[in-house]
Amino acid sequence: MNQLKPETLCVQAGWSPKKGEPRVLPIYQSTTFKYETSEQMARLFDLEDSGYFYTRLQNPTNDAVASKIAALEGGVGAMLTSSGQAANFYAIFNICQAGDHFVSSSCIYGGTYNLFGVTMKKLGIECTFVNPNASEEEIAKAFRPNTKALFGETISNPTLEVLDIEKFARIAHQHGVPLIVDNTFPTPINCRPFQWGADIVVHSTTKYMDGHATSVGGAVVDSGNFDWEAHADKFPGLCTPDESYHGLTYTKSFGRMAYMTKATVQLMRDLGSIQSPENAFLLNLGLETLHLRMPQHCRNAQAVAEYLSKNDKVAWVNYSGLPQDKYYDLAQKYMPNGSCGVVTFGLKGGRDVAIQFMDSLRLAAIVTHVADARTCVLHPASHTHRQLSDEQLLAAGVRPDLIRFSVGIENADDIIADIEQALQR
Ligand SMILES: *Cc1c(COP(=O)(O)O)cnc(C)c1O
Repeated sequence: MNQLKPETLCVQAGWSPKKGEPRVLPIYQSTTFKYETSEQMARLFDLEDSGYFYTRLQNPTNDAVASKIAALEGGVGAMLTSSGQAANFYAIFNICQAGDHFVSSSCIYGGTYNLFGVTMKKLGIECTFVNPNASEEEIAKAFRPNTKALFGETISNPTLEVLDIEKFARIAHQHGVPLIVDNTFPTPINCRPFQWGADIVVHSTTKYMDGHATSVGGAVVDSGNFDWEAHADKFPGLCTPDESYHGLTYTKSFGRMAYMTKATVQLMRDLGSIQSPENAFLLNLGLETLHLRMPQHCRNAQAVAEYLSKNDKVAWVNYSGLPQDKYYDLAQKYMPNGSCGVVTFGLKGGRDVAIQFMDSLRLAAIVTHVADARTCVLHPASHTHRQLSDEQLLAAGVRPDLIRFSVGIENADDIIADIEQALQR
């Protein structure tokens, strides 16, 4: 279905019912799947046949939704995970083991920053964080002989830095490693990182893809483009026999599906962060309108950002759709149709005024969430980044006065009126 346009893929990809089958993707609410003979089942366990046998590894509802996301990103395959955190962990852990190292942009989601900097370190995998706006030479200095991947976010949460994907892809490929991009904020409607040289894409589907704040979930998508065999010494997990499958070698048996197959039959089998089929069903409903919702998020966010940039109570505004924004040009290149619905800004008077402002909002709700249909707001310094001192906040790129305003798909005039009355109070 790759030749179809994104709007059609949103609605129809992944599930093509045959005669007499349900029009709507069913929820396969079953842990297990039946076979006629013991031999048939044995072949599945040896990966000699493909088929479902236990939902911890694969489920037809999940696979239909994963293949819709793969089609939207232009990849060869995808898997759903229980959360965006699990997706990021799997994406790295599929090619890194104890003693390995990877490089990541420092402008990433706080949860991912902890995962990479603290938890993966306990597994013996080290991460070096780099300033994504540094020169290629500067970033290249972070690479070591045991470096296995480069990671970045297309638009970082919450600091809204736009990644120069081509630059990152060049650096990764010069060092013989894949570029992994978290594409949660733009979604494939606004940016398809594979077109710019990324090799693996990850998502927190919890955000725009679900879009209705009903289900936590994630996805890993593979472009199928990275040549693991050309760097076989770096990726023994993919290019040498897997003892847990009688000596099968993923690149030899599965070609461009090597990475996704290993992630499914090894990581999902052993770690089990599967998405529930019911959540996958809800995610699919969200995806059916992603192409309608994203442009409305972007139109509304643009209107809110323009309003804020002209208001004299506002100290600063970040939104890559504003011509004066430092990421305007990069955003025009990678996301000409709009970036996302999240705007960040600070008020004159700083932190205390920010809290007063947020408490005065009526339409916009204070929630630990971002990127759904309802306008919501968060003050990272008081909430998600509460443990950090002002100095640490600044080091993480989060200004203490930063308000993260996630613009929904309501009417922009109503959202702006809400901001206006809160600013007056
Ligand atoms: C929310 C988020 C995550 C984590 O996803 P969960 O689904 O909450 O586990 C990862 N990356 C980005 C960019 C996010 O916004």
